[in-house]
Parts: sequence; structure tokens; C-alpha cells
Amino acid sequence: MSGLLFQGVEGVVDRTAEHYACRSLVPQSLESIADGDALHEECGVVAIHGHAEAAHEAYLGLYALQHRGQESAGIATADGQRLSNIKGMGLVSEIFTDDVLQKLPGHMAIGHTRYSTTGDSALLNAQPIRVDSVKGLIAIAHNGNLVNLGNLRAKLEAEGAYFQTTSDSEIIVQLIAHSKATTLVDAIADSLSQVDGAFSIVMMTRDRIFAARDPRGFRPLSIGRIRKPGQKDITYVASETCAFDLLRAEYVRDVEPGELVMISEDGITSRQYATGLPQSSCIFENVYFARPDSRVFGRWVQESRDQMGRHLARESGVPADVIVPVPDSGVTAALGFAEESGIPFRLGLIRNHYVGRTFIEPEQRVRDFGVRLKLNPVRNILAGKRVVLIDDSIIRGTTSRKIVRMVRGAGATEVHLRISCPPTISPCFYGVDTPSKKELIAANQSIEEIRKFIEADSLAYLSLDGLLKSCGDHDHNKFCTACYTGNYPTAWVDVDEILPANPGS
Ligand code: SF4
Repeated sequence: MSGLLFQGVEGVVDRTAEHYACRSLVPQSLESIADGDALHEECGVVAIHGHAEAAHEAYLGLYALQHRGQESAGIATADGQRLSNIKGMGLVSEIFTDDVLQKLPGHMAIGHTRYSTTGDSALLNAQPIRVDSVKGLIAIAHNGNLVNLGNLRAKLEAEGAYFQTTSDSEIIVQLIAHSKATTLVDAIADSLSQVDGAFSIVMMTRDRIFAARDPRGFRPLSIGRIRKPGQKDITYVASETCAFDLLRAEYVRDVEPGELVMISEDGITSRQYATGLPQSSCIFENVYFARPDSRVFGRWVQESRDQMGRHLARESGVPADVIVPVPDSGVTAALGFAEESGIPFRLGLIRNHYVGRTFIEPEQRVRDFGVRLKLNPVRNILAGKRVVLIDDSIIRGTTSRKIVRMVRGAGATEVHLRISCPPTISPCFYGVDTPSKKELIAANQSIEEIRKFIEADSLAYLSLDGLLKSCGDHDHNKFCTACYTGNYPTAWVDVDEILPANPGS
């Protein structure tokens, strides 16, 4: 089953055709089990400088960031001379066994865990990507999505660039290679100032690590460190601060929007490669993606989600007997809702955490099978009760309907659904894998129509104002909210993706 394939220091872990054949028959994640009616995670990145076992540290960091992508993972290391890179399909713990980690020497590392966005899902596009350019060997790992890819790719190919992948990360490296700037750091700044969209990236050469965020700061990226008395600090960079906890590193600060940070033997230096664009950090990181034990965009996710629940309770409270979260991402908002409303919080739905990757569905057409596999109702909590269900989003509506039916089937007398963000009415172009507008139920139906479709007694969403206040943005100018408003922070959008199901109706 395991067939490992290494190609020198640039290698892949190949889990064999048997593994892929098996996975192609079955859903890959819990979300896809539930009819794909969920927004997928994007990517997670880490970087380590100054640790004798940097590959192991990258492994731990990626382990903590596994929620941001389960399709593939990779680690590149450098020891001042060599730059090694191994990646594979699957979970971090499946790919990086002790044997594999030992093939990654060096005191520096970058790592990546991925859910595919731009570029197909092949191993070829797993990251880090290693490119041998006229500026030397560079490895890059990227979280986000570039929106001016087409123009840049055509321009670079006209200049003689040969692309090894379809990933947008390679565009950045090719721009570095083709830059007329004479130093590497100038070439990186030049490259980053030409791309538009969302990117939090880590890059590594044989002797330095670079970290940068796009000028609008769409995706989070933070710096941590471990102080060693009498020695140089160990420096870490990670998509979310929960990675620092596992690594026993302290949080230092966020990489700022438009900032390029360089980490070397001489310490940390920084430059602002872009200024003047308003911040538009992804508010959906607070709603769903980031872990509640992380601090993103200067605020604890737990605190924001708790406030979402409290605002929701004030805006759309309803007489009820129990508050029940849709696990796991609805839990923190449900706690806030329960405290604010004074109605008891109960775990009335239990999630099976062990379902998904190796599961073989016995019968394709078993009704509601996916949701029943993923969630099970606790009948003694729900029977005879008026239930407020708290969830973080409704995408197509199919999963919500199954959950409402499940709760009612367990004996609930009323089922009221409350959503801890506004209706999702527009797709994302910045690294979140949303369906097109045609498939988003809230883009094409009224709230009352959605309520009827999902068969709830009542349905309410958190207001945009309530969401922004919950996330600490009282001036309404810090976050991207395009999937709730259709107001995109960048000029470029894919027109086909934003057409409603019934244009003109
Ligand atoms: S469109 Fe939505 S998901 Fe995408 S970056 Fe903006 S807030 Fe985040």
C-alpha cells in the first residue's frame, strides 16, 4: 500500500495507485460527504529558522494547521548549502513519517498544507514548489489566490518562462527570476508588487527565509519565536498562531499587509514593498476557517465567534428550550448565543471525527447518508424540545435541510436555525473555494424561501453590522466582506461566476 518514491532531495511521497483508486471512489473529507455543501479550507504555511531539526518543527506546525487543507502537504529544508523538498498527497501525518523527515536535513524549513484552489489537485501542484532560477534555488509556499494570473503568465511566457506547474505560486517565482532587480530581496519585492489578489507566502533560499503578505492583508500570517539564552532565537512564521502553541513558541507579531520580512543568520529585517491600499482581511477566517484558539488579524477567533453568537441572540432571539451547535464550527457562536439569551447550551448533535478518508460508502443512493454518517442526534436532549440550531453558513442549503430534518426526526417540537454570518451571496476569488453565484442559495432565494426549503420553523442570519462589530471592526473598513455584499476589494472578478441563477428575474 505504501510505495514511497524519493527523487533525491526533490521528492514526492507516492501512496500508490491503489490509494488513489480507493480515494477516487469515496468522499475525501467530511464536507464532501455532506454533499460538498460547505466552503473548503484554503492553505496553511509555516517557516522555521534556526532549529537543528527544522523539518520536525515544520511537521508539527503543519499538524496544527491541518484544518486549513487536507489534500496535500510538503516540507522544504535548507542547511546553507542544499535545499531539499518532499511533498505528497494526503494528511501531514500520513506523508511525513520519521523516515521521510530524516531525508530533510537543515536548520531552516518551510511547509505547506493545501486544499487546491487555483491549479488542479495533482501532486505536481502540491507545495512547496522548488524552482531553480537565475537568482538561485527558491522554494515557495503560498496561501491565497492571485487574480491577475492570466496576464502575468502570458507576459512571462512571452519572455521565455517555462512553467513546471499550473499553480499561481510559480508565477511569483518566475517573476522573481525575470526581475531586473540586482539583489534577491529587491527582486522579491518587485515580483510581489506585480501580482494582485490574496497571498500570504513563505519562501526559502539556501540561506534565508522570506515571508510576505499581500498589500490588502487578505490572509493571516504571524511571526513567533523561541528565545534561547546565550544563543540566537528560533524564528517561526505560521498562518495561524495555534501552530506556535504546539511548537512552544511565543507570538511576536503579525506580518503586516504589504510587508516583506527576511530572516537570516543576521536576524530579522523588514521592508514595506507596497503601501496605500486599504486593508481587506478575509472576515470568513473569523467566521469559519481559523481555529478558535488562534489569534488572527490582531484578535482571538474565539472572542469574535462568541460575539457573533451574542449579536445573533440580540438580533434574532426566539423562545426556546435548548441552544444546539452544528459541530464543530458552530460551537463557539452557540455558547455566546446561549449565554446572551439565557437558554441552556446542549451538545444535541455529535460529530463522528473518524469518518471520511478511508470510508467506503456501501450504497450510493442511501438517503441523507452523508450527513447521518457525519452527525448523530442526541435524542434525550432534543425530544420534546424547542431547539435553536446554530451554524456558521448555508451554502446550497441541502446539508442544512438534512440537519433540520435530523433534529426534528429526533423529536424536537420546533427547529429554529440561526446563522452566525450574513447570507452568502457571492463567490470568493481570494483563495476560498466557493461555488458560483448560481449555486449559492442565498444569491437566488429570499430568506423566507430558504426557510421553507430547509424546513425550519424560523431562519435568521447575523447582520453585516453585527458581524463586523463582532470582529472588532467598528469602522467597517478593515475586512473583506465580498461573499456577503458582492463588493470586491480588487478590480478583477470572473463575470461568469457572479451571474445569478436567473439573471434579470
Ligand atoms: S470574499 Fe468572503 S471568503 Fe473571500 S476573502 Fe472576502 S470575505 Fe473572505
